[in-house]
Amino acid sequence: MNIILFGPPGSGKGTQADLICEKHNLLHISTGDLLRSEIKSKSNFGKGIQEIINTGNLVSDEIIIKLINSAIKKDNDFSGYLFDGFPRNMNQVSLLSKLLKSKDIKIDCVLFLNVDKSILLDRVLHRKEAEGRSDDNEKTFKNRFDVYCKETQPLLQYYKSDNLLREINGIGEIYQINQRINAELETF
Ligand code: AMP
Repeated sequence: MNIILFGPPGSGKGTQADLICEKHNLLHISTGDLLRSEIKSKSNFGKGIQEIINTGNLVSDEIIIKLINSAIKKDNDFSGYLFDGFPRNMNQVSLLSKLLKSKDIKIDCVLFLNVDKSILLDRVLHRKEAEGRSDDNEKTFKNRFDVYCKETQPLLQYYKSDNLLREINGIGEIYQINQRINAELETF
């Protein structure tokens, strides 16, 4: 099974991704995590990325697709992929679809974690205390949310028309949200 996990910043994608991947033996590919590890490793690639992340804008599609490419190139024993935080704009949708086609991989569903904006900022500020992410602050969140609305949210319509979209109520306790996801995935 191959899944795209979709949702605004702070919707709990990372937390739910870990649970889904464990249950279904999927490889978790989070572009945010991949970018943070590039920054940490101080690679050439990583230079300049931190500043972009701190503003809340999107990193270039070229960098993102390179990271995705090398993440799925590696041999693995997983039963599929879970893409978390990718694709984030229409160009990334076409890059992903080309890449998957060349590898004969098909997306089975796009899970959309739907969480009201009023709850998102609280969650992000909470995560700041737990994880210390530099982009988890009110100012950056505002831009991340605007970028999400402008660039990423329109993809929902695209996946809906492809009949891949499954909307999940992302409000509640972690285990409750996970139960909703499990119930949805059982239909596959
Ligand atoms: P995330 O961990 O998904 O919340 O992403 C943190 C930040 O990394 C975002 O605000 C963007 O600056 C960058 N980022 C993550 N994924 C992507 C992507 N698919 N395309 C462009 N930028 C991304």
